[in-house]
Amino acid sequence: MERLQKVIAHAGITSRRKAEEYIINGRVKVNGKIVRELGTQVGKQDKVEVDDVPIYQEEYGYYLFYKPKGVISAVSDDKGRKVVTDYFTHVKERIYPVGRLDYDTSGLLLLTNDGDFSQKLTHPSHEVDKIYVAKVKGLAKKHDLAPLTRGVKIDGYKTAPADVQIISVDLKTETSIIQLTIHEGRNHQVKKMLQSVGYLVQKLKREKYGDLTLQGLRPGEYRSLNKKEISSLL
Ligand code: URA
Repeated sequence: MERLQKVIAHAGITSRRKAEEYIINGRVKVNGKIVRELGTQVGKQDKVEVDDVPIYQEEYGYYLFYKPKGVISAVSDDKGRKVVTDYFTHVKERIYPVGRLDYDTSGLLLLTNDGDFSQKLTHPSHEVDKIYVAKVKGLAKKHDLAPLTRGVKIDGYKTAPADVQIISVDLKTETSIIQLTIHEGRNHQVKKMLQSVGYLVQKLKREKYGDLTLQGLRPGEYRSLNKKEISSLL
């Protein structure tokens, strides 16, 4: 069951606010009867009409995708580059990515057509841990990375304390693998955080989102989330 205004907005006819106006103004019918009460609950079996035109109640879809690098986190690209939804040709819902991973970043990306879900997850106050693994230039030292555990200033804001682990250092190539856990998701945040303590990111992958992992998926593959997984993120 969903709130009537959400169902109307989700059908793509109008915004949530306008849908509320339509309801108050008596333009919306449920099962043939005008309904003026905001928040009326409707289910898939209910016939919803706006100005006597039935609306199609699109199913909600929630997907976990293993984004390969070299793909844009969007539904279209004006330069014709590959976008994440190109991998979802068999999915009929009009899904879009929840937040973004950079073009050259790989890893776990969620996609949905549920605006509330997406908004909640991307709101700065929403604290779900995301784990990133970065390959950086140079031999990482714990001491250098310590400021990240307290928060660093980038682009005029202070990042929340992050968990940082050095996974390995490679003396031959003079590179290191660093794991960073953050719950924020600002633009290029991981790259900027590591750069602020002197490490240039050469490769970046998001391995975990809350309790969700990429287990069982190869780059370019996806799977649906189940109800338990969806609520674990909220
Ligand atoms: N931080 C980045 O710098 N890039 C990403 O794609 C995700 C987080």
